[in-house]
Amino acid sequence: MARLYQNPKGTKDVLPEEQQYWKHIETTMQRVAELYGYEKLTLPIFEETALFRRGVGEGTDIVEKEMYTFSDKGGSSMTLRPEFTAGVVRAYLQNGMASRTRPVKLWSAGPVFRYERPQAGRYRQFTQFNVEAIGELDPALDFEIMSAAWHLYDALGFRKLNFQINSIGCPLCRPGYLRKLKDYYRGRLSGICDDCRTRIEKNPLRLLDCKNASCRPVIETAPSIGDCLCAECGDHFRTLRGYLDSLSRPYTVNPRLVRGLDYYTKTVFEVWAEGIGAQNAVCGGGRYDGLIELLGGPPTPAVGFAAGIERMVLTLQAHEISVPPIPSPKVYFVCLDDTARAEAVSLISRVRLAGVEAVMGFGGRSLKAQLREADRKGIPLAVILGSDEIRSQKAQVKHMQSGTQDMVPLSELPAFLTARTG
Ligand code: AMP
Repeated sequence: MARLYQNPKGTKDVLPEEQQYWKHIETTMQRVAELYGYEKLTLPIFEETALFRRGVGEGTDIVEKEMYTFSDKGGSSMTLRPEFTAGVVRAYLQNGMASRTRPVKLWSAGPVFRYERPQAGRYRQFTQFNVEAIGELDPALDFEIMSAAWHLYDALGFRKLNFQINSIGCPLCRPGYLRKLKDYYRGRLSGICDDCRTRIEKNPLRLLDCKNASCRPVIETAPSIGDCLCAECGDHFRTLRGYLDSLSRPYTVNPRLVRGLDYYTKTVFEVWAEGIGAQNAVCGGGRYDGLIELLGGPPTPAVGFAAGIERMVLTLQAHEISVPPIPSPKVYFVCLDDTARAEAVSLISRVRLAGVEAVMGFGGRSLKAQLREADRKGIPLAVILGSDEIRSQKAQVKHMQSGTQDMVPLSELPAFLTARTG
């Protein structure tokens, strides 16, 4: 016998029972994007590997350890996208979007791929809702981006969300901070993990989000970037906080919050949800004023975020939030013989065209078996068609819950069923 195959580690089948959560999240996020004036951009799932190496950054975990990279049949190195931003910027530059009115506001959604260690809420293929606003340095745009995330989670009914924000400076002020941070760490080499010892030279900002317990006390007393911001970054952060305060958006300034990607400047933020375990970040984002130039465009500021849909599903479930059900069949056509089935196929198509969700029994099962199936599926109406009904051109419509029946002329069936299920 052939063996049964399993889905790859770190991937997930989303079964029909869970689809209502996905549909609800997808509809809500699309609506939020529209409310804020973001236009949809659909991108390829794979890009040239060099785009991510440059755009995400050598020295990041994503590029060093997590990319799904392969040679295609023509020998070119391709990578399944590990995030959206690099692809969005590539499309923005390639399609001449820089000449559009600024900011250019775009959203995308779809699968991303990272070879991570799978655990609850962490997958190797997961799905992101991604929002980017390109072309403005105004902190009001950082605020708009954060508001969109807020709006989405409010609309989904999430409670106890925790907004964490920080500023990680710019190429002007960050080097000074990094010098201070490296000096601080060089004096504490014996108290930190092996990874952090390499991070000191390779990716010092990431020292601050090391998850290793032994590094925690060192992180606690590390110098804070807030004290090293230049005037422009300091003003930017103060103005953003002013907007957040004026709209009573609760947030925490977290001087240890950094992002794993090299292109972030100034604002960074994350949203944490409660009740979904250790992988509690439902959203991460920030400003990336350096990326567009890095990818060959003119210097252009930009800001955006990405939110993981699987973790939103987990949050909806953990908070026991009910979501609209997916429309299910309202009518079941019971066919008692082949003549009835021939009539049913044309009747059911008229009923569906009239907008009523309808299914029919297949495979020559008994009246009882077909009614049992309708009942099990919670279908409220059954249309029973046998040779008598075809002869009289009238069908019995059974109301499954009460057991009452109506005799309805076949020609009036679509209108009758529309009225009863409307
Ligand atoms: P990042 O691009 O790492 O900032 O991720 C943005 C968001 O994507 C996070 O806040 C999570 O909601 C989600 N996310 C990131 N990595 C994973 C993963 N491995 N599995 C599921 N969701 C993820």
